[in-house]
Amino acid sequence: MSGRSTRSALSLASFAALALASAAGLAQTRTAPEVPRVRLVATGGTISARGGGGSRLSAEEILQLAPGVGRYAQAEAEQFANVASTALTLDQWIRLAGRLNELFDRDAGLAGAVVTCGTDSLEELAYFLHLTVRSSRPVVVVGAMRSAGTPGYEGGANLLDGFRVAAQPESRGRGVLVVFNDEIHSAREVTKTDALRLQTFQSGSYGLMGVVDPDRVVFFRDPLKRHTVTSEFDLTGVSALPRVDILLFYQGAPDDLVRAAVDNGARGLVIAMAGADVTGGSLAPGIGYAIRKGIPVAAATRTGSGRIAPASASRLGEGLVAAEDLVPLKARVLLMLALTKTRSASEIQRMFTEY
Ligand code: ASP
Repeated sequence: MSGRSTRSALSLASFAALALASAAGLAQTRTAPEVPRVRLVATGGTISARGGGGSRLSAEEILQLAPGVGRYAQAEAEQFANVASTALTLDQWIRLAGRLNELFDRDAGLAGAVVTCGTDSLEELAYFLHLTVRSSRPVVVVGAMRSAGTPGYEGGANLLDGFRVAAQPESRGRGVLVVFNDEIHSAREVTKTDALRLQTFQSGSYGLMGVVDPDRVVFFRDPLKRHTVTSEFDLTGVSALPRVDILLFYQGAPDDLVRAAVDNGARGLVIAMAGADVTGGSLAPGIGYAIRKGIPVAAATRTGSGRIAPASASRLGEGLVAAEDLVPLKARVLLMLALTKTRSASEIQRMFTEY
């Protein structure tokens, strides 16, 4: 047997073992109806990639890779999409939020949902759901850095953790949670910090919300900003999100990029400023152009953490909004949603302060 076929025989054997173990877990699901019912809504990403390109595992198949899930939850699964996170469209985001709202509205017995997503833009989708799913029942977003079939695939472990968190009554009312590497993060604060490492999802100076330990799920803190049931954003009747572009300040950045975004239909802009200074340096003439055209501009910082205060933005006049402590990617999500309700800069500033 060649080395190559030995490896594939081994990986087939380990898949078979996983399948047997998970069959036991699912059988347990059927014999332990007292555990909460949790639904997997799969969208794709590396957690469902077989590796070597091409085909992807279905929602049912990835469930098979989380053996023992039946100890914690009666697991059910549906396929929403099966693509890389960067291939998900904003229309699919709207439909996914709608689907989760529909599941919770129609199914009072559903304890929570687990959403699988590619890691690359997971933090954007998770924050979008944090603001648009109108239920206190947990929505837990998980993914994987290694594709299924590669040594050390951690997708099954993350999925199992996701089910454990979603099944916990203590997870209710804490907004959308991102669970990775046995750690629980708030969708508002988590970002992908490394292109390859397993510990890529971090919440910076905010820290973890909790952990998924062998004995139990433990929470250490709560998000204090508005989300889910206290969110004012209702996608009922919203069929498209307004275009909001992010532009980065860098030394000598040409302001015609800002003008181009406005002239090509941006309804709002986020500028990743150099620090806490919101003047925008070389981008300033473009920012002025946008504001004169009535396009709200949110000032965030490119530093990765820290806060832009509303007072510093308002000194530059009506139209410039401080993104507070939201990183540019999350500021853009909030601004898109804000623009579904208002174009008033002061109203949008209120939202940035409250969410
Ligand atoms: N390219 C993948 C995606 O975002 C990466 C991943 O899932 O980790 O879909």
